[in-house]
Amino acid sequence: MKHVLGLKCVLCGQEYGVDEVLYVCPHHGDDGILDVVYDYREIARHIDPVRLASSQDFTIWRYKPLLPVKPESPAPPLTVGWTPLYHAKRLGEKLGMPNLYIKDDGRQPTASLKDRASAVGIVKAMELGKEVMSAASTGNAASSLAGLAASVGLKCIIFVPKTAPQGKIAQLLIYGATVLAVDGTYDQAFDLCLEASKEYGWYIRNTAYNPYLSEGKKTAAYEICEQLGWKAPDWILVGVGDGCIIGGLGKGLRDLVSLGWIDKLPKLMGVQAEGSAALYNAWKEGTEEVKPVEPHTIADSISVGMPRDRIKALRAVRYTGGAFITVSDEEILEAMRLLGREAGIFAEPAGAAPFAGLLKARKEGLIGPEEKVVVLVTGNGLKDVGAAMKAAGNPIIVEPDIKAVREAISSLKGG
Ligand SMILES: *Cc1c(COP(=O)(O)O)cnc(C)c1O
Ligand SMILES: [Zn+2]
Repeated sequence: MKHVLGLKCVLCGQEYGVDEVLYVCPHHGDDGILDVVYDYREIARHIDPVRLASSQDFTIWRYKPLLPVKPESPAPPLTVGWTPLYHAKRLGEKLGMPNLYIKDDGRQPTASLKDRASAVGIVKAMELGKEVMSAASTGNAASSLAGLAASVGLKCIIFVPKTAPQGKIAQLLIYGATVLAVDGTYDQAFDLCLEASKEYGWYIRNTAYNPYLSEGKKTAAYEICEQLGWKAPDWILVGVGDGCIIGGLGKGLRDLVSLGWIDKLPKLMGVQAEGSAALYNAWKEGTEEVKPVEPHTIADSISVGMPRDRIKALRAVRYTGGAFITVSDEEILEAMRLLGREAGIFAEPAGAAPFAGLLKARKEGLIGPEEKVVVLVTGNGLKDVGAAMKAAGNPIIVEPDIKAVREAISSLKGG
């Protein structure tokens, strides 16, 4: 991998060769998350916007020279990436925002943005000759790993809190993963996964532990900019739990600035649930010392007590001049309804959270009406039908009789 210079600890700045360490900085243990450092001059010899314009590869692998994999490594067969970026005109009109865009990562093969990271993780596992992968997850990282692993015949062992939504657990089981449903929190599942993986030698997919995962996530930032003709938006909003996605977006934007492919830096807005706002709190206090919270929110994918990728997340928001904001569960449910009814997009709660954040940021004057805004919907609503039903309300039950239909329809008109 000539284009990768090394792995740099986010805490001490020490750089390591890619063959020297597998996961984290040896001096800092599990908190010493590493960041992949690239040689942009080498990368620029292989890829640029002109060559991309004629690429027929509509997956994340169109950006392969920017990913930390060997050029000859085969990609998994599932189609990951190049999800649609919609100009949401109807919804935008309703809000008085003519430049509102929605990127729907619910359209990934396992229906969440996590596939971008899992795809890179799978390639790394195969490069290293690993046969078993493990992950701890609030749900989506696991179901994503399970699907991608199944596509190439890798085994996987999954740790999820037993409260994860049924849809996500069903995905895991259908893809044939070994599922350990932990009678505890996500944070406990995470620690347990690390301990067991070290004992058994499994290759760990965990976000904010394996340095290559956020590199997959950064492709969402590339796509947004490319789909907008390399004219960067003013804002990108995303739901934040561990902070790995927003850290990855920050990395992707930094890559694009280093390569000179975008003219300005979009601001990142991290949207957290009020009941799970450790990063928002730290950002407000202007510190990187994050204090854990007791998480409670309907948005399971961003329900995190101690965000694992906190340093990268906080730096991504500061680097881009963005902000964090919090939203209530009620606001998230309202955002799910609006996305569904005014844009035809069905998001799971964490996927709708950034739209709830946009509504709040507009109200508070943080985002102007004319600004070009991208809302990144990170997961599909079918993953958590229980939450969707809370947002959606109930159908009208009728007798199998036309008179009952007429009554129902006329009551609608009256109402
Ligand atoms: C994982 C996830 C998030 C949050 O990502 P972090 O990297 O934990 O901040 C948001 N939405 C969905 C649907 C997710 O699966
Ligand atoms: Zn270190």
